[in-house]
Amino acid sequence: MSIFESMSQYGYGDVHVVRDPRVRLSAIVAIHDTRRGPALGGCRFVVYSNEDAALTDALRLARAMTFKAALAGLAHGGGKSVIVAPAGDYDRSALLAAFARFVDGLGGRYIAAEDSGTNPEDMRTLREHTRHVVGLDAAHGGSGDPSPFTALGVRRGIEACVEAALGRSSLEGVRVAVQGVGSVGYHLCRELRAVGARITLADVRDELAARAAAEFGANVVSAAEIHRTECDVYAPCALGGAINDRTLPELRCRIVAGAANNQLANDDAGATLHTHGVLYAPDYAINAGGLINVAQEVSGYDASKARARTLHIYDTIHEIVERSQRANLPPHRVADAMVRELLGDAPQGGGAIS
Ligand code: NAD
Repeated sequence: MSIFESMSQYGYGDVHVVRDPRVRLSAIVAIHDTRRGPALGGCRFVVYSNEDAALTDALRLARAMTFKAALAGLAHGGGKSVIVAPAGDYDRSALLAAFARFVDGLGGRYIAAEDSGTNPEDMRTLREHTRHVVGLDAAHGGSGDPSPFTALGVRRGIEACVEAALGRSSLEGVRVAVQGVGSVGYHLCRELRAVGARITLADVRDELAARAAAEFGANVVSAAEIHRTECDVYAPCALGGAINDRTLPELRCRIVAGAANNQLANDDAGATLHTHGVLYAPDYAINAGGLINVAQEVSGYDASKARARTLHIYDTIHEIVERSQRANLPPHRVADAMVRELLGDAPQGGGAIS
């Protein structure tokens, strides 16, 4: 597919490509939408099999950031950058410095943050050359680990779903099955435990499952079993695609609400959940706590503001569920429609490629 075809498929926006052979830099900055504010999104630094894969990744991910930021009520659009990790030796600081100067040249239309393959130290390196970067660690005035905020938002989203689907105003005694207890899943268990939920969990890494089980008084099942555990809420907090043709018929829950990105393997999976009376909390609406937290850095980080804003994820999920019930539409489609309303329907267009 040509670049312009790809851009129109994702409703762009502008895409910038930079190459600096002296430091072996090849990178793409995708700015999906800036109507609500500067595009904010992570900087990936990973190996790509080819240029098309890097471009598609950037376009797809930046678009998802527009949706997430809009529903979270942030004054940001969606962006994403990908740095193609060079094979062999290279000077990481020099490469990042060249990338940061390029980001700086975009004049704040794109704000970079940590993502797969980058870390808070890299963000510090970028900061030496541009102020358009967030995701620094707390010791350097940044927002620190986003996972506790993501987990807080997921707990609030689960509360909204439990109220709507089970008519219960608290999670006391509610059975939650958590798939994956890495960063977010671990903090989610802490949140759930604090409000009296009964937790079953699984992780492919036995030591992580054992640690969380001991700490939060949870039952452990195997990774193969977690999705078919009888429970009130299934919370996917591992990889994408947890709700797919194989797992769908085996689910024994009333609600699917977790942190993982791209939980639905495809659009039909969301429709099938809806048809079978399983309430699904759209992933990009419920897992926005980490983004809300890092976005606070743009105006000067304040943890209490980030927390207050993350608590509002309850209201967002409540509204999605209410509209879904009223219109008898799957919640993931309602969330998409709400984003279109927030952005105005017309595609952006008129963008540039440089
Ligand atoms: P992580 O890598 O720290 O944790 C994921 C955990 O899932 C790991 O412990 C891994 O061993 C486990 N796992 C992998 N496959 C599994 C399987 N089949 N069954 C059970 N466990 C499995 O990642 P994370 O930062 O906690 O993120 C989890 C998910 O949430 C990802 O999809 C991520 O994109 C999404 N997310 C994270 C954040 C954040 O703040 N970290 C924000 C938004 C969305």
